[in-house]
Amino acid sequence: MSINIAIDGPAGAGKSTIAKRLAKELGFIYVDTGAMYRAMAYYFLLHDIKAEDEGAIAAACPQVDVTISYENGEQQVILNGENVNGVIRTEAVGNMASASSVYPVVRKKLVELQRQLAEKSDVIMDGRDIGTCVLPNAQVKIYLTASSATRAQRRYDELTAKGVSCDLAEIEKDIIERDYRDMHRETSPLMQAEDAVLVDSSHLNIDEVVSEIRRVYEQKVKA
Ligand code: C5P
Repeated sequence: MSINIAIDGPAGAGKSTIAKRLAKELGFIYVDTGAMYRAMAYYFLLHDIKAEDEGAIAAACPQVDVTISYENGEQQVILNGENVNGVIRTEAVGNMASASSVYPVVRKKLVELQRQLAEKSDVIMDGRDIGTCVLPNAQVKIYLTASSATRAQRRYDELTAKGVSCDLAEIEKDIIERDYRDMHRETSPLMQAEDAVLVDSSHLNIDEVVSEIRRVYEQKVKA
């Protein structure tokens, strides 16, 4: 049986950085489910489909094929045969992903793919609903969070390091809005699974978070 580690939490909590590091250390496959929702969102943006137009989104879904592959251990998202990794990291795509992922028709497609991946291999999967919905039987579940101020500061530092000028207050406002939408949608809202371990990274560095999750893994899986 494969081993599954589920990491859920709000935007900017450091899920992907931590999950990537841990996957490398443990020899697991890292599955970034947010990237899949971003690929779908990219398709909707490209075809001028509005997030409020559930009918148009539902009609478009059968035309959207999202798969993933790995290049040098890095997940690549393939949208209708084209690698879209380089174009799905913008705020516009992130906001569209948050708005369009509320629809069950969008989620159903991606959840199926996510479950297939976790059945085949040992995975660390991050997202919003992994421990609660996608992999309810994951051996290890982590709810990784941090204060909105910390998360905004991290995003701000990341963007300024890339030379992108941005406004800290604006970023925090966006983060709070995204959290609200992810936590209050009807289908698979973001919440801590009953059996998930809460890790607050507000005052922890990457090494400290990784070792805390490793400790949980060793306690639950190795024991
Ligand atoms: O994690 P990331 O910011 O890339 O995710 C983009 C958006 O996709 C999230 O704000 C969330 O609305 C949605 N998402 C989701 N379920 C997941 C992963 C992401 O609804 N498992």
